[in-house]
Amino acid sequence: MALLECSPNQQGKVGAEMKTYDVVIIGAGAAGLICALTAGYRGLRVRVVDHASKAGKKILMSGGGRCNFTNLATTSANFFSRNPHFSISALKRYTPQHFVELIERHGIEYVEKAPGQLFCAHSAKDVVSMLLTECGWAGVEVSLSTPVGDIERLGDGMRLEIGGRMVHTGAVVVATGGLSIPTLGASGLGYDLARQFGLAVTETRAALVPFTVTSQWKASLASLSGLSCPVLVKCGDGQYREPLLFTHRGLSGPAMLQASSHWQPGMTIEIDWLPSIPVEETLRALRLSAPRRHLGTWLGEVLPKRLSQALMQWQAWKDRPMAELSNTDIEALVQGLKAWQFKPAGTEGWRTAEVTLGGVDTDAISSKTFAVNTIPQLYFIGEVLDVTGQLGGFNFQWAWASGVACGQAL
Ligand SMILES: Cc1cc2nc3c(=O)[nH]c(=O)nc-3n(C[C@H](O)[C@H](O)[C@H](O)COP(=O)(O)OP(=O)(O)OC[C@H]3O[C@@H](n4cnc5c(N)ncnc54)[C@H](O)[C@@H]3O)c2cc1C
Repeated sequence: MALLECSPNQQGKVGAEMKTYDVVIIGAGAAGLICALTAGYRGLRVRVVDHASKAGKKILMSGGGRCNFTNLATTSANFFSRNPHFSISALKRYTPQHFVELIERHGIEYVEKAPGQLFCAHSAKDVVSMLLTECGWAGVEVSLSTPVGDIERLGDGMRLEIGGRMVHTGAVVVATGGLSIPTLGASGLGYDLARQFGLAVTETRAALVPFTVTSQWKASLASLSGLSCPVLVKCGDGQYREPLLFTHRGLSGPAMLQASSHWQPGMTIEIDWLPSIPVEETLRALRLSAPRRHLGTWLGEVLPKRLSQALMQWQAWKDRPMAELSNTDIEALVQGLKAWQFKPAGTEGWRTAEVTLGGVDTDAISSKTFAVNTIPQLYFIGEVLDVTGQLGGFNFQWAWASGVACGQAL
């Protein structure tokens, strides 16, 4: 495979100043960089092109600046895709342990913040520096602030415009990521390219994103802003036991971000505020053992005070001694505490979403090489594909695994 670069008026001609590459990777994010260094170490001449001014902007922002770079428990079950089997092969070939070895070789300290979730101990910058260092060692050329123009198939290679110059390359890898956070460089180029080459793109939707609430609820939730509590949330076919965070805009925190991947406009989410307490049994027992204890007192002990008061107010529960609770009252309390129904107004959308659900349909892509089945010189990797992880380091593991599989196949 060879890449030739010339000015537009020299298209197709070979001149003295021409450069030769084997592969052009569009996108200097997680998937693009790891693919580049993998291919570079195999002796391929690799150029990575990105329109953003910095490489790995999402890595830098991720995990609150500490990058949750993998999850030790990753399997294909942690991903949403129209084809749930597509991710199996790459995830098996490049495991979280492989990435941990890379991190350790660079002396990067990390911590397991929650079971399986590995974060940088100091800064996400360590991950970007590591990838760029490896790219340097592998002889990869990285061009930032460089727009990509038209791309077309030319014989068994490709011709594309990079930074206003026409380039011939043996292969193009599309690693342009999803649509979330346009200010970090996100664009729809990958989907446009897929459509240009006749590939289907499944419906895209913002996911791992906070919920917004109606203006009425906003006023009710204002007093709770900043409060976090462990809940069990159910939405569609998903259920997660994680913390919920009240914000001044609505509902966030891991529980709500996870639920958002299952949510469609109009759907209700169900929240169990006391996932570790069997409320019905507890209240029935308290009615006998502590008849004079007040409902509000008990609620204030098992929930954060502010939340217990808000729940009592929202559901118009009367504070009264346990002895006065009828069976019907207990049923209502169980419903309101264990299966509280809430209809979000919407989500915060692309502005704050961590990922994009949907993307380039995997039916047309090889799960071994990531090449388009009908166009062997065109590849798609990472989040641009219709493979989206749950919260917890899975999305980066997909970027690493798909990038390495492609880099080994180029
Ligand atoms: C705020 C935030 C926090 C996150 N935290 C985590 C986390 O802790 N753990 C986790 O696993 N996942 C996390 N994610 C998700 C994770 O960042 C992505 O899934 C991952 O970066 C996808 O890798 P990628 O290489 O496919 O795409 P990206 O990393 O998005 O890279 C795509 C690259 O393509 C470039 N590009 C796009 N369009 C063009 C164009 N037209 N021309 C040239 N270049 C272009 C972009 O500038 C970008 O550099 C987070 C995401 C966000 C937004």
